[in-house]
Amino acid sequence: MNDGKQIWVWVETLAGQVKPVGLEALHAGKTLAEQLGATATAVLAGGPDATVPEAVTGSGVQQVLLIQHPHLDPHNSLGLVEAFAAQIQSRQPAVVLMGATNHGKELAPALAAKLGVGLATDCIALDVEGDTLKARRPVYAGKAHITFQFGEHRPCLLTLRPNVFRPSQATAAEAAPVETVTAEIPEDGLRLKIKDVVQAAGRKLDISEARIIVSGGMGMQKPENFRLLEELAEVLGAAVGASRPVVDNGWREYSNQVGQTGRTVSPDLYIACGISGAVQHLAGMSSSRCIVAINKDPNAPIFDVADYGIVGNVLDILPVMTAEFKKVLS
Ligand code: FAD
Repeated sequence: MNDGKQIWVWVETLAGQVKPVGLEALHAGKTLAEQLGATATAVLAGGPDATVPEAVTGSGVQQVLLIQHPHLDPHNSLGLVEAFAAQIQSRQPAVVLMGATNHGKELAPALAAKLGVGLATDCIALDVEGDTLKARRPVYAGKAHITFQFGEHRPCLLTLRPNVFRPSQATAAEAAPVETVTAEIPEDGLRLKIKDVVQAAGRKLDISEARIIVSGGMGMQKPENFRLLEELAEVLGAAVGASRPVVDNGWREYSNQVGQTGRTVSPDLYIACGISGAVQHLAGMSSSRCIVAINKDPNAPIFDVADYGIVGNVLDILPVMTAEFKKVLS
């Protein structure tokens, strides 16, 4: 297992800042490297002017590899696959970790196919037994967990579920050295070029990375009432989620949908408002650390998974919660 002696972690950044999921992956990579007696390398990619944030150089990794190319800014998965695969082939890391984010979910399978190696996706735990790396992930909509065991092909490629591998504080006494390489990306081999990225107006926190989610179901009655959720989310620094019928009705965007056919989330706190708790919804949020449910039906199945339950009209309860949190948090 420790033949390559290098654990690589792809660190996602946004506007020059490390995304929380990047720090989580770094933490998992450092822990794995300690267990294996290996070194941890942070790998970042960007345009010719890209730099490495201090949060990465000071994170306790032994090295940082910065891959630069004009086609890597803005993020271009096809370009990154080319660039990343070339570095992996020449330096032979034993393990490559990345967040199971939109970008990670796009990059990892393409990289696995290009390298002809296995991929364990959406992992929630890593373990080393003897020479074997094992990874655990939920299956059947979270009802069971399976453990993957990697064979002999290297590197072992894994994506990690956001909000599960909690980042440690930066502990490094010295900043890790940064090696900058310019990627060779064949112009004619790139089937997709990103010309521009347009940020949706008023774009809020991504639910798959949010620490707190305030989520609304059909019990919110009408789209205008989601304002109550927005107000609570604002006070808590939370993202707003939704059940599927809410999205199907066009009340919220698909990116808000939690569940089997939406996003899987693992926040510290999930507040389910007027959501019945159908299995397809639970599939996306039951691994939340703390679940609070507000429902007027005391027999709603959501209460079976809730740590705290409030029985009542969500439209009356939300404004009270927002006002009380405001007092405490302001
Ligand atoms: P409802 O089931 O209508 O429940 C509304 C709840 O609000 C009820 O419990 C009610 O008591 C409560 N309520 C009503 N008024 C109030 C009030 N004033 N105050 C407090 N409580 C109130 N669903 C998902 O969410 N995500 C998915 O990804 C998903 N994928 C699916 C995939 C498949 C293949 C299928 C078949 C279904 C899927 N569903 C999914 C749908 C799922 O089965 C449920 O229909 C859906 O989750 C129900 O949404 P809801 O709880 O918002 O609505």
